[in-house]
Amino acid sequence: MIFKKKKIERTVLLEQNVLDSIVTFCKMKHPNEGILILKGKSRNGEIKIDGLAIPPFNFTGPTFAGFPHSFLPFDNSYIGIVHSHPAGSAEPSVTDLNNFFGLISLIIKSPYDDDSIFAWDSSGNPVSLSII
Ligand SMILES: [Zn+2]
Repeated sequence: MIFKKKKIERTVLLEQNVLDSIVTFCKMKHPNEGILILKGKSRNGEIKIDGLAIPPFNFTGPTFAGFPHSFLPFDNSYIGIVHSHPAGSAEPSVTDLNNFFGLISLIIKSPYDDDSIFAWDSSGNPVSLSII
């Protein structure tokens, strides 16, 4: 097979201290889903996550976590969301894809360790994730 055009490879860089905060937050919310806003920068397909924000008016339950996007303050450092899957896989559900926000979606599944977190694009395709 010949590839005529190179697709921009997206990659996500996640700071270790941000991951630690996500893990702590999601463990605290367990068995409910937790949801946080990812803050960072995107350059040439490289998405660097260096902070978190707690979404306003968030509501969570065992199978759904969300917040009304229209209430989000305008802030171009908001590049995506992370939420937890207390049970099952770390793959995005149809609801997750319909509620996609920003450039990237991270999902962390139980037991919430460094190997439980995965990155997805708006089509539900996996994106490579590195902890830095
Ligand atoms: Zn989900």
